[in-house]
Amino acid sequence: MSRIPSIIKEQQQFFKSQKTKDIDYRLSLLKALKLEILSKEQAIFNALEKDFKKSEFEGYLSEIGLVMNSLNLAIKNLKRWARPKRIKSSLLNFPSKDYIYSEPYGNVLVIAPWNYPFLLALEPLIMAISAGNTVVLKPSELTKHTSKITTEIIQNVFSENFAVSIEGGIETSTALLAQKWDYIFFTGSTKVGKIVAEAAAKHLTPVVLELGGKSPCIIDDSVNLKLIARRLVWGKLLNGGQTCIAADYVIVKNNIKENLIEVLKAEIIKRYGSNPKTSPDFPRIINKNNTKRIETLLEGQNIIFGGDIQIEDCYISPTLIDEPSLDSKIMQEEIFGPVLPILTYETELDIETIIWNTEKPLSFYVFSEHSDFIESIIKKYSFGGGVINDLLIHFGNHRLPFGGVGDSGTGSYHGKHGFDTFSNKKSIIKRGNWFDPSFRYAPYKGKMSLLKKVFKYLG
Ligand code: NAD
Repeated sequence: MSRIPSIIKEQQQFFKSQKTKDIDYRLSLLKALKLEILSKEQAIFNALEKDFKKSEFEGYLSEIGLVMNSLNLAIKNLKRWARPKRIKSSLLNFPSKDYIYSEPYGNVLVIAPWNYPFLLALEPLIMAISAGNTVVLKPSELTKHTSKITTEIIQNVFSENFAVSIEGGIETSTALLAQKWDYIFFTGSTKVGKIVAEAAAKHLTPVVLELGGKSPCIIDDSVNLKLIARRLVWGKLLNGGQTCIAADYVIVKNNIKENLIEVLKAEIIKRYGSNPKTSPDFPRIINKNNTKRIETLLEGQNIIFGGDIQIEDCYISPTLIDEPSLDSKIMQEEIFGPVLPILTYETELDIETIIWNTEKPLSFYVFSEHSDFIESIIKKYSFGGGVINDLLIHFGNHRLPFGGVGDSGTGSYHGKHGFDTFSNKKSIIKRGNWFDPSFRYAPYKGKMSLLKKVFKYLG
């Protein structure tokens, strides 16, 4: 931790040297990072397995594959993204040529969570570097194997004055937040997001907060239940349910609830066996504290499937809960585990009562064949992003900005949106000198009617 002030000073000096503005230099490092990750693929898989028994398939699908995708995208498009963009000029300024320049903010702090420890550390770093910023990354202390390999990878590619990973827990994070940054990118809980926002406000540092919340999944009675069960079980149980955009709970039309429960039970057994503990594809809860936290959420609830908890092994089996009350803890707190509460609705008013019981969610899912119903739901509620008839997949399209709203976050990234997030957009007008109408200069007498006409034609 004592290294922090000197590292920041070095990064500030390096940024001022203008070296990071060199696009070819950025590209050479992004390419080197790609090669380094490729050479460490197995080590990353092993780390994820050690941290929470994450399978290689999920490790590639939800971590390494997405990181490589981000790198490939940045390498392919960086020159175009970084070029000043010519914009239509205003008649008011005639003659002129207008541009938007993307400039890096400067020294960026990235704080990452544990649940997708490789992806959520590397993707913001890649976009911050692409945009020409220096980066200090603070990976999560809860996934120590993955954080260690992430630190090694960064160390092997970057000099410390450009990008560095500083491992540590809350104390390290607090020490980093006490410094002045040009930009902070935080992914984690809403509670810690508020601490980060407060620290950033002291220096008027712009901040992106990628937070959590309770993401609902609404299912009406027009659907193919078997297909839904397949998608819902996949999206809920990926990463052991420890996904910020997982469906936190289901609101199903009351006449199909019993059928839904039956198909969900069958689907869970089909995918993970009757004892999911022995499945190589079912991850563990990250640590004993979180396992106990989820155990507490289950107290007093009507468990209709699963409910097998083994604290020592950080194991919670896929679990279904029938109709928890809205004021119970499980309906107040983000679950972040393989536990799915099932609530019912008769009218849209019932849905409203449930959704507005909590803050604005990060994600929102609707399963239905009725486009009017879908449209009314999508337009009525405020949330970060969502999917109709599936879960999670909006995360995978880099053309869609990803982020939350209100308590689930502020700001967004992914693909070009990530580059833009880490770039200050400078507006520049280059005025022509060959013509300088006297119109805007005093005395103004007799010019008002022409002024009004000009404003009428402004685009
Ligand atoms: P967390 O907020 O506990 O920790 C995130 C990071 O903040 C870690 O690096 C941690 O060391 C640091 N931290 C923890 N307490 C701190 C404090 N008091 N002061 C300063 N720094 C502190 O979150 P987590 O448990 O790692 O991750 C789970 C949460 O993250 C869930 O709420 C989940 O929904 C959310 N999440 C959101 C996204 C998204 O993209 N929106 C993605 C993944 C996870």
